Amino acid sequence: MTTVIIGGGIGGLAVAWNLVIKAKAKGVDLGAIHVVEASDRFGGNVDTFEFDFGSGPDGKGGITTLSRWGDLGVNDFNTVAYTKIVSVMNTIGFKEGIDYKNLEDSTCYYTADGSTCFTDSGPWWNTQMPKSLAASVKDFMDYAGKEARDPSKQGQYASTTIEEFITNNQSARGWDPDLGPKVIYPRINGMYFVSELGPLQMPFLAVMHYYAIQEGAGAPTANRCYFVGGTSNWIKALMAYMQAKMPQIVFHGNYQAVVGQVATAGQKFLVQDAAQKQPPIRAERVVVACHADAGLKAFITGLPIVAAQPMAMIGYNNGISVIHTDSRVMPPNQNAWSTYNILIRPPEAASLKPYMINYVSNRHQKDEANPTYNQFGLPQFFVSINPQPAIPENLILKDRNGIPAVANLRHNNFDFDTMYAQSRIDTVQGVNDIYYAGGWTHGSGLHEECWAQGEDVADKIVAHVATASPTAPASPVDTGTFIGRRLTARSSPHE
Ligand SMILES: Cc1cc2nc3c(=O)[nH]c(=O)nc-3n(C[C@H](O)[C@H](O)[C@H](O)COP(=O)(O)OP(=O)(O)OC[C@H]3O[C@@H](n4cnc5c(N)ncnc54)[C@H](O)[C@@H]3O)c2cc1C
Repeated sequence: MTTVIIGGGIGGLAVAWNLVIKAKAKGVDLGAIHVVEASDRFGGNVDTFEFDFGSGPDGKGGITTLSRWGDLGVNDFNTVAYTKIVSVMNTIGFKEGIDYKNLEDSTCYYTADGSTCFTDSGPWWNTQMPKSLAASVKDFMDYAGKEARDPSKQGQYASTTIEEFITNNQSARGWDPDLGPKVIYPRINGMYFVSELGPLQMPFLAVMHYYAIQEGAGAPTANRCYFVGGTSNWIKALMAYMQAKMPQIVFHGNYQAVVGQVATAGQKFLVQDAAQKQPPIRAERVVVACHADAGLKAFITGLPIVAAQPMAMIGYNNGISVIHTDSRVMPPNQNAWSTYNILIRPPEAASLKPYMINYVSNRHQKDEANPTYNQFGLPQFFVSINPQPAIPENLILKDRNGIPAVANLRHNNFDFDTMYAQSRIDTVQGVNDIYYAGGWTHGSGLHEECWAQGEDVADKIVAHVATASPTAPASPVDTGTFIGRRLTARSSPHE
C-alpha cells in the first residue's frame, strides 16, 4: 500500500509524521509514504540564508569571522499557541533556550517621511506610542480577540470586514481615531496573506485568527521565539528525526509531481516526476500538500470537480524577500528601530500593495543577549519583504559563494474566498482517495495550523484504511463558524 504526499513544506511533513504516529497507535499498516518535493530543499517557505560579516575581535585577543544568518521566510513562532509544534519539538529534542529563544518583541509604525513614528514598546528616546492610542490598541486586542473567539458570535462575523468592525465599535469603545489608519491597517498590510483588496477589506475573523495565534490577541500572552541559526535548523532537525525513526517515509527532492488516475481501484494513481529523472510511483492515495494552484496543475486526471472548485478560489501573494544593509527603508528616526518595522502609507495612497515589512535582524535575534555579537559592535542588517525603494545590488548581503540573499516566497490569501474554500475542502477530504493539507487549507497557514491539518488528514486516512471505507465527508457548515471553531481551538492553551 502506498501514499504519495505532494509538497515537502511543513504541510507535507506534518502529514507524513502524523500518518506514521497515528497508524502505529491504531495498529494499521499503511505501507510506504512518499513525500515528493519539487525543489532541491525541503521546508518550502522556510529559507535561511547564511553569510559572513567580515572579521573582528574574538574577545580573547584574537580575530575571528563573524558568521550570521537571516530568515528570508518563516522566522518566528509563539510557543503558547503553537502547542502541537512545541510537542513535536520536545519529541525530537529541539529545545527552548538552545534551539529556539525569545526574540525582542517590538514594533515601530512609521511614515516614509518620518512625520509619524512611534513604537509599541519602550519608552525609549521618546519614541513610544501616544498614550491614548496605546490604550486603544490594548483594548482592541482584548475586545476584538475575545469577540472573534466567542463561539456564539462567529456566524454573526462571517462576512464582517476589519474596517467594519473598527468603525462599528470606534465610538462605543472610545478608540483613538488613529487606531485603524496608523496601527491596525498598516500591521495587517504587513501580514503576508492580504489580498489585492488591501487590509481594510480583510475578514475580521481572518485577521483576528492570525493576531491570536501569532501575537496572543484575546488569548494568553504570546511568547514569541526565533530559531537559533535560522528556521531551516528546525526543518533539518525534524527531517533528521523522521529519517532516523520513521523508515516508512521516503523523501524525494527535485521531484515535481504530475499525477494521473490510471485505474479505478487499488494503486489507482501514477505519480510521475515532471522532469522524468526519477521513477514513477504507483499509489492508493494522494495528499495534495503543495499550494492549491500547484495542486490543480499537478493533476492530469482524477481530481474531483468538487475539490477543484474550492482550490481554484485560493488567490496567492508573491513576496520578494531580501537581506541587506540599506537603511533607507527603515524609520528615519533610528532610535525607533524595532524588531518589526511597519510602514504607514498616506491615506491618499492609491494602493497599499505590495505590502512591505522590515525586520532588524539584530533585534529579532536579540543580539544584546549574545556576547559574541556584541564584540563586533552590532553591525545592523535587515530582512525586508517587498522593500521600497528596491535595494541596490551592493547593499544586498551575499553568501560565501557570492549568491545574493533574495527569495521569492508565495503565500495564499486569507480572504473571504479562502474562508469559504476552506470550509468546503473539509467536505471533500478523501473523495476519490485524495486529501488536502498545507497552509491554504487551514486558517492563516501558520506552521501550527499546517500541523493541525496534518493531524486531521492523517486521522482520516488511518480511519479509512482501518475500516476499509472512506470517512463520511463532513457536512458543509457556515464559514464563520468553521473558521471560528479552528481559531478557538488553536488559541486555547487548554486544548
Ligand atoms: C514571507 C513569509 C513569512 C512567513 N513567516 C511565518 C512565520 O514566521 N511563522 C509561521 O508559522 N508561518 C509563517 N509563514 C507562513 C508559512 O508560509 C507557513 O507557515 C508554511 O510554511 C506553509 O507551509 P506549506 O507546506 O503549506 O507551503 P510551502 O512552505 O510553500 O511548501 C509547499 C511546497 O510544495 C512544493 N511543491 C509545489 N508544487 C509541487 C509539485 N507539483 N510536486 C512536488 N512539490 C511541489 C513547493 O516546492 C514547496 O516546497 C510565512 C510565510 C511567508 C510568505
